[in-house]
Amino acid sequence: MTPRQTFSFSQSVNHMVARAFKVLDMDPGIAQSIQSCKAILQVKFPVNIRGKIEVFTGWRAVHSTHRLPAKGGIRYAPIVNQDEVEALAALMTYKCAIVDVPFGGSKGGLMIDPAKYDRDEMQLITRRFARELVRKGFLSPAANVPAPDMGTGEREMAWIADTYQQLHPEDINYAACVTGKPVHHGGIRGRTEATGRGVVYAMREFFRHQDDIKATGLKGSLGGKRIVIQGLGNVGYHAARLLDEEDDTKIIALIERDGALINEDGLPIEEIRQYLNKHKTIKGFPGANFTADGHTALELECDILIPAALESQITSDNAERIKTRLIIEAANGPITFEADEILRKRGITILPDAFVNAGGVTVSYFEWIRNLAHIRFGRMEKRYDELRGEHILSAIKTMTGKDTPEWIHKELARGANELDLVRSGLDDTMRLAYQELRSTLQDNDKIDDYRTAAYVIAVSKIARSYYDIGVY
Ligand code: GLU
Repeated sequence: MTPRQTFSFSQSVNHMVARAFKVLDMDPGIAQSIQSCKAILQVKFPVNIRGKIEVFTGWRAVHSTHRLPAKGGIRYAPIVNQDEVEALAALMTYKCAIVDVPFGGSKGGLMIDPAKYDRDEMQLITRRFARELVRKGFLSPAANVPAPDMGTGEREMAWIADTYQQLHPEDINYAACVTGKPVHHGGIRGRTEATGRGVVYAMREFFRHQDDIKATGLKGSLGGKRIVIQGLGNVGYHAARLLDEEDDTKIIALIERDGALINEDGLPIEEIRQYLNKHKTIKGFPGANFTADGHTALELECDILIPAALESQITSDNAERIKTRLIIEAANGPITFEADEILRKRGITILPDAFVNAGGVTVSYFEWIRNLAHIRFGRMEKRYDELRGEHILSAIKTMTGKDTPEWIHKELARGANELDLVRSGLDDTMRLAYQELRSTLQDNDKIDDYRTAAYVIAVSKIARSYYDIGVY
């Protein structure tokens, strides 16, 4: 069933941001300037597929350029449209500001069903799309840097980087023209899992604050919480896997395209993912009840609901029936403006997308820096740190005459590798952003939800750059 929606996706985002403008009593001109999408490119290009010419339509929206490059993923889906791409580009602007990643916001989309084409055809189409973007000034390390999104991954990013390099062989920084590349092709370790891991780091930080937990009506720690999650794609899978394996939570329902799996005792995420990869469906997975009407599983009674799939999943149609205390928006725009109003009135706490799923672009930022620096993180200091660790251990032994326990020895005498550093940077980013969010919420009595707090933080930072530089 198509959800009833009065506002388009981009209008929905704008209405939510307008609440922050009101709180800040923002100059209407600056507000309008912040909200408007600065440039939008639509391309139509022909590709010869199996002897027949097919014309593809794609977009790249640049929502903001107060920081450069503008950053954001490229989505491949059969139903992409300009409004959606503009809304997602706007979310990128706010997301980057919230987590202090110095980028503007952008997003791209290609109307395509990737399942209909083989690898070689996808390569042809992607390279052709990339060429269009480069030629029109919508793809370069300095101005506009894409990344994976729904329907795209490392493979597409490698083709894009290579296409850019062929067109600009003189650009020594070519690898920084796109993030989310394979590691052997200039990518960074930990990028693929980054958005999902960031979601979990955000949740862990939330559960470090007893007052915040209490305000939702929940008690205790993250461990043991009953969770419903929608989506086992790149974001949902990594978030669910960590929650299942490291945080001792119970994932009682998992919603996918073709239905939902339900088990009150908890679902084994890794096994389900393997089943899904093999059978292309979750239907028939043993040890759980299956319902073909997956959407209704969003309404199951649970402690935490994590929509990690598409936009507009919770609308005015089902918002009254949502039975959870806490919603973690791992997807972009899963709750419409109207639904957000209903849920807020019902006292359901929402951690908003622009904060929760910012882990992806955070690690993209690390990758971009790594590409410009032309060196892997940790390469210079790893062995030095290990040596220092050894010295500290031998100093302790000389003073006490005792050996340190095996596990401490191992930890101290190990220098951080790139993955350790990426995870540490991501964790720190999510923690600091949450702390800023909660203090903004606590310190301002005109704000009573995390989304408005997030947008107040974002638009204040963006407005500051407008005031500092001026508008010309
Ligand atoms: N597509 C991801 C997002 O929506 C990542 C963007 C990026 O890394 O630039 O946040």
